[in-house]
Amino acid sequence: MIPLVDLKLQYHNIKIEIDEAIQTVLNEAAFYKGRHVREFEENFRDYLGVNHCVGVANCTDALQLALHAVGVKPGSEIITAANTFIATSEAISAVGAEPAFVDIDLTTYNIDLHKIESKITEHTAAIIPVHLNGRAIDMDEILRIARKHHLYVIEDCAQACGAEWKGRRVGTIGDIGCFSFYPGKNLGAYGDGGALVTDNEEYARYLRMAADHGREEKYVHEFEGMSSRLDGIQAAILNVKLKYLDKWNECRYDNAWIYNNNLNDAEGIISPSFPPPSKRESHVFHVFLVRVKNRDMVFRLMKGAGIEVGMHYPNILPCQPAYSRQGYRNEFQEFPNATRVAEECLSLPMYPELSGKQIKYIASTLKEIVGKNEE
Ligand SMILES: *Cc1c(COP(=O)(O)O)cnc(C)c1O
Repeated sequence: MIPLVDLKLQYHNIKIEIDEAIQTVLNEAAFYKGRHVREFEENFRDYLGVNHCVGVANCTDALQLALHAVGVKPGSEIITAANTFIATSEAISAVGAEPAFVDIDLTTYNIDLHKIESKITEHTAAIIPVHLNGRAIDMDEILRIARKHHLYVIEDCAQACGAEWKGRRVGTIGDIGCFSFYPGKNLGAYGDGGALVTDNEEYARYLRMAADHGREEKYVHEFEGMSSRLDGIQAAILNVKLKYLDKWNECRYDNAWIYNNNLNDAEGIISPSFPPPSKRESHVFHVFLVRVKNRDMVFRLMKGAGIEVGMHYPNILPCQPAYSRQGYRNEFQEFPNATRVAEECLSLPMYPELSGKQIKYIASTLKEIVGKNEE
């Protein structure tokens, strides 16, 4: 079986360093706050090239904290993409705001920059661009729209850790950047973890307090916050893994080219990554997505052939039961591109350690299955 992501193999390759890092935390009992968390915050800050980093428990909390930090009020509307993971919109609802979903663009599968302004109302407070699948969004255009309409920009970088837009790492371009260290992400911990980054000192101070029960001093709570911590063991693991992140992301990009070279002229298989973007930094390939007709059948047959495939994501958010309050009935009319991608998307195995031979096997199997399907 070729897995979608192979975390065992990755651990095996860095086992000595990881085991030592975990043992150090155990010996020091540095489980909470402590030097490993501080070191990771500094390392991640320097890696991204930003002034402040606050470690938190996960990216969903990070997004919620970021919305609070910029002062989003209940009743506000927040613009985001219709095809993101629900964490983005959960954070919006959690602060009492309402997600305003926007269709996607069929060349990037990210939010359609031309459709954002039609969703802006007097209640709109912020945009959450989601660098989906690992592909950096055109942040010049996002910032232009945000400045014109006086909106905050909170980047959801959960799938794009290390990606760059014109020489700047994503997450450092908007007001606040939010990251996930869920194990399967490009920089994954061995449990949950997340981070917030910003150049704004005031936000950073607020975020650090808000993630820790609204306090700076142990027994003084200036306001009610959350209990959202990056723990010492995860931070120590992330300190080891961060050193490899750029190399791993380059391997993902090279793998995307092997997929391209073996699939781009195949009948019935399309992808926004045929060919991969010419700037390697702009796409860190968290997911390698293709589109096929009869997707559910192809999905089953691929699994049957020993290849684990995924779907990112088969149902668009505005039409999920959780958002029935928004009353969308005809998703094709409102979100034609996101709906088509949801119906046809298939994620192929993608991780740094995947070999060229495996990719060729995956590609030939997919071509065979799709070819039969077309007959
Ligand atoms: C994974 C993910 C999140 C949530 O991250 P957690 O750390 O699991 O809370 C948010 N947004 C996107 C786009 C994601 O893929």
